[in-house]
Amino acid sequence: MKLIKTGAAATLALTLALTATACGGDKDKDSKAGSGGKKDKIVVGIKFDQPGLGLKTPDGKFTGFDVDVATYVAKELGYEASQIEFKQAVSAERENLIKNGDVEFIVASYSINDKRKAQVDFAGPYFLAHQDLLVRADESGIAKAEDLNDKKLCSVTGSTSAQNVKEKLAPKADLKQAGGYSECLSGLENKTFDALTTDNSILAGYAAQEKNQGKFKLVGLSLSNENYGIGLKKGNKELQTKINAAVKKMVSDGSWEKFVKANFGPANYKNEPAPQITEGS
Ligand code: GLU
Repeated sequence: MKLIKTGAAATLALTLALTATACGGDKDKDSKAGSGGKKDKIVVGIKFDQPGLGLKTPDGKFTGFDVDVATYVAKELGYEASQIEFKQAVSAERENLIKNGDVEFIVASYSINDKRKAQVDFAGPYFLAHQDLLVRADESGIAKAEDLNDKKLCSVTGSTSAQNVKEKLAPKADLKQAGGYSECLSGLENKTFDALTTDNSILAGYAAQEKNQGKFKLVGLSLSNENYGIGLKKGNKELQTKINAAVKKMVSDGSWEKFVKANFGPANYKNEPAPQITEGS
């Protein structure tokens, strides 16, 4: 800032500079991406259609483990729950949302991998899930991944689940890549598909929904390790460090366990312990 001013103008410029510092500081960088001044909200990407993880309910509320994690992290960054704006982050759009500055960070069953790390950074991980299969309750012909090779399978575009199927698990499966897993679920019910594949954490949430009781079952495979990270803009070391600190605190103060129990307990999901932080070190 140029302060080569005289008299009243100089005083005014100085006052403005001091005011900006007092109101802004570190928090500026944690507010809405691309911001210059202090923002009174933070935009966070989550899933809207994954019960137990990220779900927008008909009355406009948000529930799930990722929502609780996002709310905890935002609080550590200085934002109350009322200051969070949740934005839908479907699997294929996550990198774009981060790169475009549409969200400050993403907590959306977002696995850390090298391909994604070429475009965005992650904090965490904060959760470990495994890829599994969901089939109709009366299905008896699908017990392992290879059984999918002559089957109609649904997964989601831009997900590691779809990529794993194509590259190694069942390259000959008739794979449809939907926009979101809830589309796959309705297709599984009406027999458009024989199976839906993604993380067991997501599948357990669908199977446990009241409206789905008795309709589906998880095959119980562990086809991959999916370490969920919190996605953020590449190179934002400061935010990455702060989010890692928030995740560590969330685990050590018992909040992580509480969130797991509250969100996965009803689905009877057997979770892995909290993973060690690997990103940013
Ligand atoms: N965790 C996997 C991924 O990040 C699958 C779940 C999802 O699509 O969000 O691709």
